[in-house]
Amino acid sequence: MANPPTLLWLRRDLRLADHPALQAACADGGPVIPVFILDPETEAIGAAPRWRLERSVLSLAADLERIGSRLILRRGEALEVLQALIAETGAKTVRWTRLYDPVSKARDEGVKSTLKGAGIAAVSHPGHVLFEPWTVTSKTGGFYKVYTPYWKCVAGAELDAPLPAPSQMPAPEHWPESLAELGMGRDMRRGADIVARYAVVGETAARNRLGTFLETAVADYASARDRTDRPGTSGLSENLTYGEISARTVWHAGHRAMVEGAAGAETFIKELVWRDFAWHLIHHTPHLTQKSWRPEWEDFPWEEGGEPAELWKRGMTGEPMVDAGMRQMYVTGTMHNRVRMLVASYLTKHLMTHWKVGMDWFAECLIDWDPASNAMGWQWAAGSGPDAAPYFRVFNPATQAEKFDPRGAYRHRWVAGVGIGETSPEANSYFQAIPESWGLSATDPYPERIIDLKAGRERALAAYAQHRDAA
Ligand code: FAD
Repeated sequence: MANPPTLLWLRRDLRLADHPALQAACADGGPVIPVFILDPETEAIGAAPRWRLERSVLSLAADLERIGSRLILRRGEALEVLQALIAETGAKTVRWTRLYDPVSKARDEGVKSTLKGAGIAAVSHPGHVLFEPWTVTSKTGGFYKVYTPYWKCVAGAELDAPLPAPSQMPAPEHWPESLAELGMGRDMRRGADIVARYAVVGETAARNRLGTFLETAVADYASARDRTDRPGTSGLSENLTYGEISARTVWHAGHRAMVEGAAGAETFIKELVWRDFAWHLIHHTPHLTQKSWRPEWEDFPWEEGGEPAELWKRGMTGEPMVDAGMRQMYVTGTMHNRVRMLVASYLTKHLMTHWKVGMDWFAECLIDWDPASNAMGWQWAAGSGPDAAPYFRVFNPATQAEKFDPRGAYRHRWVAGVGIGETSPEANSYFQAIPESWGLSATDPYPERIIDLKAGRERALAAYAQHRDAA
């Protein structure tokens, strides 16, 4: 008798190469039915990452067709959809790639136990990170709370070579029904066309991006990665977050570059490992996304929102480096890492606004949104995280600008009315991307600073000292 079908439930692993769950599904010997489910957990993510995720899904669907397969699109609770597909197809096995954030874990554990109870082999696989969170342990057997010892622990690890992509996928005689589209971009409205110009979508594009970075930029990465006015980084976060390329593929490519003598390659691998560290933290301390990681920060007198935070979101603080970052994010769906740190410090310290306000806005706007890196980044900037910048270290956006955007090119590129000469096309496109209800126009004068940097810094430090003394 022919082997029964295997369902391959795809989520943030939208690629063919180096895909352990996909390889195992092919090895089951029966037809493989890849499925993507728009479930309530996925519906709940922010507008920009949801829009970008659908682009990734469609790209993978096209890649699957090229190897004789299809991607079945369904909507509903994951468990119910999988149960329906099992009933329709006679599948006896369901496979997927593990995720480690609390929302995914709660869903996946429920799916696994119910399917197993019904006699279905429900099997999860590694593939999203370099090292699964429980495999990296400190000398005392616990997890790591600080990056440097985590890095030292994994730096010399030998990782298996990436798996090849299959050239064919065994198809069923009859395909189950699929939705024609998922409509995941509806909340982007007019911003979608603008952000689409910057998105680099799909597995082939991700591989090319890695190749270009290694050829042109990795050598100078260690010094250039902080320059906001030059393309000194890989841009791969957008692809890694949807699994269009595996972290293991990037790690091996980085190592090859290191062996070949590329000066910046080790720094690049170290940054990649920050991503892993974030997933390590979110697995072991899931409250990272919800509460201050350090409990003493829970009752810090943060502002919970209000006009200053609204102006920050709209890139209207009058602080050019901050506004440039916020506008870059609205137009491109990404923001330079140096500027992420700076705008996060400005919000949480100068404006004394809760890091969750910023984290949630990033989650709405970033096409490279990653629940672990975003939460870790915000708690790092606020000072409430495990391996955080101390609260008393307040980034000064003006001196940061002098260092990392010395000629003002980054600010001029993103902010109308800042710098010399005509407004750049990118700065103008911000006004085409934002909601019309914001009532902003490229011809409006650039606003005055909403807060004096010195006064804001002193207010934050005074609040911190008072909070610390009261504790
Ligand atoms: P490269 O410099 O080329 O680095 C290579 C890869 O290493 C990146 O693609 C990324 O996967 C990883 N990496 C680099 N820096 C970091 C870091 N600081 N933390 C974790 N991983 C890192 N990254 C996201 O992917 N999604 C997020 O939602 C996110 N939110 C952030 C929020 C804040 C407040 C801060 C300070 C940082 C955040 N980061 C986030 C981390 C970092 O800013 C981005 O990963 C980086 O800017 C991506 O650009 P790149 O791909 O060109 O990185």
